[in-house]
Amino acid sequence: MTVLKTLKAMAGERERCMYCGDSHGTDIEHFWPKTPYPGRMFGWPNMLLCCTECGRFKGNLFPLDANGLPLLVDPTAVNPWDFLDFNPDTYNFVARFDLATNAPSLHGVKTVELLQLDRREALEAGYRKTHKRILIVVELALQEDTIDADALCEQLDEVDDHGLLGWYRYGTGQNLSPFCELRAKHPEVWAACVAVLT
Ligand SMILES: [Zn+2]
Repeated sequence: MTVLKTLKAMAGERERCMYCGDSHGTDIEHFWPKTPYPGRMFGWPNMLLCCTECGRFKGNLFPLDANGLPLLVDPTAVNPWDFLDFNPDTYNFVARFDLATNAPSLHGVKTVELLQLDRREALEAGYRKTHKRILIVVELALQEDTIDADALCEQLDEVDDHGLLGWYRYGTGQNLSPFCELRAKHPEVWAACVAVLT
């Protein structure tokens, strides 16, 4: 299997870009750029699938922290929702507020800045559509007295083109309507949804 095919298999059936989660992943991306880090070029953990736009924005930009560690969130190594937050009003991304440091996550800030995740119209449109579809699924489920947890999980997975469910699961999305109603009225259904996502 070629590197690209293997990466596409890793990215899942939708073959989305591992950075933005929106566009089709078409390119092999080197997390540590080939320039000035040629030694890392062929290591598996250094390769991911990315879209042309993210690849173009990133180029050879690769900010490091004071310890020489990457500030760009590595979607293959960490949970991006620990560093990024979705804004359901603008459908943009912002850095997640870090309560430990009482400041926005520096990794989040740098990642949003580098990949321009807060100023890409196509990205906004894609996330808006998925966000609305997810809300409709949950709102419809809440109209019933009992909810079939398996069916709901399946429906959510079907409409989640962007991996946005992780934001409801780990991020601030869980506190917003209708997810807060789902958690309050059907905790067992919520637990089942969370288990599927974990
Ligand atoms: Zn992308």
